[in-house]
Amino acid sequence: MIPWNFTHIPGMDLEKAELQKLANQDRIPHAQLFLGDFGSAVLGLALAFARLVLCEKSGVEPCETCTACQKSGRWVHPDLHFSFPVIGEKKTSNDFLPAWRAFLTQHPYGQPSDWFNQMGEENKLGNINVAECQQIFQKLSYTIVEGRYKILLMWGPEFLGKEGNRLLKLIEEPPDNTLFLLVGADADRILPTILSRCQLVKIRPFQDPEIAEALQALSLAGVHEATTWAYLADGNLGQAIHLASVSERPVAELLLNWLRICYTESGQKMVALVEQLARLGREEQKSLFQYGLYFFRQMVLSLAGRSEAIRLSAEEKTAAIKLSGQLDLDRLAEMIELFDESLRSIERNANAKILFLNVSIQLHAVMRDQMRFISTMNS
Ligand SMILES: [Zn+2]
Repeated sequence: MIPWNFTHIPGMDLEKAELQKLANQDRIPHAQLFLGDFGSAVLGLALAFARLVLCEKSGVEPCETCTACQKSGRWVHPDLHFSFPVIGEKKTSNDFLPAWRAFLTQHPYGQPSDWFNQMGEENKLGNINVAECQQIFQKLSYTIVEGRYKILLMWGPEFLGKEGNRLLKLIEEPPDNTLFLLVGADADRILPTILSRCQLVKIRPFQDPEIAEALQALSLAGVHEATTWAYLADGNLGQAIHLASVSERPVAELLLNWLRICYTESGQKMVALVEQLARLGREEQKSLFQYGLYFFRQMVLSLAGRSEAIRLSAEEKTAAIKLSGQLDLDRLAEMIELFDESLRSIERNANAKILFLNVSIQLHAVMRDQMRFISTMNS
């Protein structure tokens, strides 16, 4: 496997070109904040940039042959320090480096919650604590071991509390040849005093074709499915990767089949389908409800006479327009509420069989009532 570089990130040609140029310049700004959703290329670009800066040769990608590249490729370069939120008051980044290196490899588009899971601490929130800030001072006081620069890459500066103010002087006037690369998602949650000391590198969300291309390159989805996930993930590659990884069956097909059976069939077929849906993995069930919500919202666009704005593949778009022709806004609102509640119930580990049966019966009632209502109106 090739160590991480710019080529791993789909699209983003302009952003890459700028960073590649900057890495080869004599003067690099000493504090930069890479700002973009965690599911965007924000971490990936900062990592590739750090590796290129440390590479002993000049070029647009780390050369992968020099000593620096061999070390940075395994995230063990002595001049590349990492700082990130951890769980535990006395703990610091250094206590979790093996898990962190695995996270960089497995989830370069991951959310903080993915990282806390990786640490084995589900449902807990970490932070960048006082001990960590002290360690940053220590790390940056070492002399450079190998190259031109030493780099501190801080992921999640929004997890830095007031103690972050201890770092201000360091960020403003860092030791010689020291670079701060901060990688964050939410400017409103980053200390303003830190924000104002950094040069901003804004990273846009991915575009749908970039996400679709990445999912196919990772062999997570075929062309059609990849497009569906791209629409649903809305620029967030981390989310798209998650959706595609947990779903074994094409989600659009699953939803349309479910709606069809709830609408046309009674009893027997519905129960058989409920049993099938209840057997899906919890994450796949969640993605079915998420896709359902997305699909219903596209139907609202159709009802509003804005079909051109619908973001669905051709086949599903036709189905959405056709179905929305038989429903009104009130019914659609009921369906959206039903799926929204169900998604929350699934997250709370509700009994899947009972849940899917209830939802199916309610979908049937909502869609059939509407039909009776329309035929009364027309007669
Ligand atoms: Zn190199």
